[in-house]
Amino acid sequence: MGPVRAAGAGYGENLTGSLDNANLLIEHRIRVSSRREEEAVRVREEAAWIAAEIAELRHAIHREPEIGLDLPKTQQKVLAALDGLPLEISTGRGLSSVTAVLRGGPGPVVLLRGDMDALPVAEETRLPYASAIPGAMHACGHDLHTAMLAGAARLLSARKAELPGTVIFMFQPGEEGYAGARHMINEGVLDAAGDRPVAAYGLHVTSQRLPCGMFSTRPGAMLAAADQITVTVRGRGGHASVPHQAADPIPVACEMVTALQTLVTRKFDVFDPVVITVGSFHAGTTDNVIPDEATFLATARSFSQESRSRLAEVVPQLIGEIARGHGLTAEAIYAAEYPVTVNDEAEAAFAAETIAAVFGAERGEQAQFPLTGAEDFSFVLEQVPGAFVMLGACPAGTDPLTAPTNHSALATFDDAALADGTALYAELALRRLARG
Ligand SMILES: [Zn+2]
Ligand SMILES: [Zn+2]
Repeated sequence: MGPVRAAGAGYGENLTGSLDNANLLIEHRIRVSSRREEEAVRVREEAAWIAAEIAELRHAIHREPEIGLDLPKTQQKVLAALDGLPLEISTGRGLSSVTAVLRGGPGPVVLLRGDMDALPVAEETRLPYASAIPGAMHACGHDLHTAMLAGAARLLSARKAELPGTVIFMFQPGEEGYAGARHMINEGVLDAAGDRPVAAYGLHVTSQRLPCGMFSTRPGAMLAAADQITVTVRGRGGHASVPHQAADPIPVACEMVTALQTLVTRKFDVFDPVVITVGSFHAGTTDNVIPDEATFLATARSFSQESRSRLAEVVPQLIGEIARGHGLTAEAIYAAEYPVTVNDEAEAAFAAETIAAVFGAERGEQAQFPLTGAEDFSFVLEQVPGAFVMLGACPAGTDPLTAPTNHSALATFDDAALADGTALYAELALRRLARG
């Protein structure tokens, strides 16, 4: 309890004083917010001015897609795009990442991330800038992320003198299954500016579902955790005509596949769902030989740490028990890959506010559900509060509900999204730094 004041003494005076202060504060806020609105218009205009160059960079990256952690040509293109900007640039040791630090005045650190890698997909879009590399394609739109982040680095570099803090630009290889973000964290990206970032933001384009230019985010789980289950069922091979003299692993492995689907519905809360999909199944060589082994691979998706831990426990148990029931043995390796991508509540609200302020409320939606895809930006969000935002890039004239999805050989992403993605990256940093 604080000190007790004498009743009446100076109350009126204080009240007037605090009302004046409140009015001043409101006026100040209006001035600041109108300055910020003018600034937002300028940022959007500047993004539109450089949109053709951002598209050119995007097309160059798209034409020469590279897969995995080693993307030397993409890295060169990024370094060329950043050349001449007032940035402290370092490149990865074990992967071809680019970390660029823009130091403004005193203030906090904010991290912006764009991933750079392509997929092992043979492009079928027939776009003029389609992949010239057989079997590789930017089918997840990471070429857009890289180009937009380079664009944001330009817009923010032009504001270096008045920037109230520092921005880390994280150009990341190996998102598609190589945990490139984790490698960059291990190499120190979160400490690249000295102080740790107070917030981190990632953007991802989608070729369907959202109309072009529509942003979408949500507090809490934004994307699933993705883990891999590798199962080997060991039996005893023999002649297919006398299965009782062998130990056939195929029907047992098939039973495991269906039992896993039962497990999903019987062991997990319907409001904290999981997905298990067996995507690869191999056994045997021909019709009249029982093989020694059957193997299959499954992906497991979950949206909470509880469900994820439970999966890691009950899946190997079920596999082992089914094998034992048939007198066989089995091994199930549950490998943790990407954690749940969890948006910080306050940072997701801040990202939504920024979208509404910069582009208008009609340009943002709060996603009702998380996506079942996964992201290694989750490793960044495990250590730094932040938000992951989706951006519709469905080409004009196509229906977002039926357009080919990300990862399809036919997926196309409209350049029209580039300027707005660039402006959002820049505005997230500007507004978050201004908040202190
Ligand atoms: Zn992808
Ligand atoms: Zn992606």
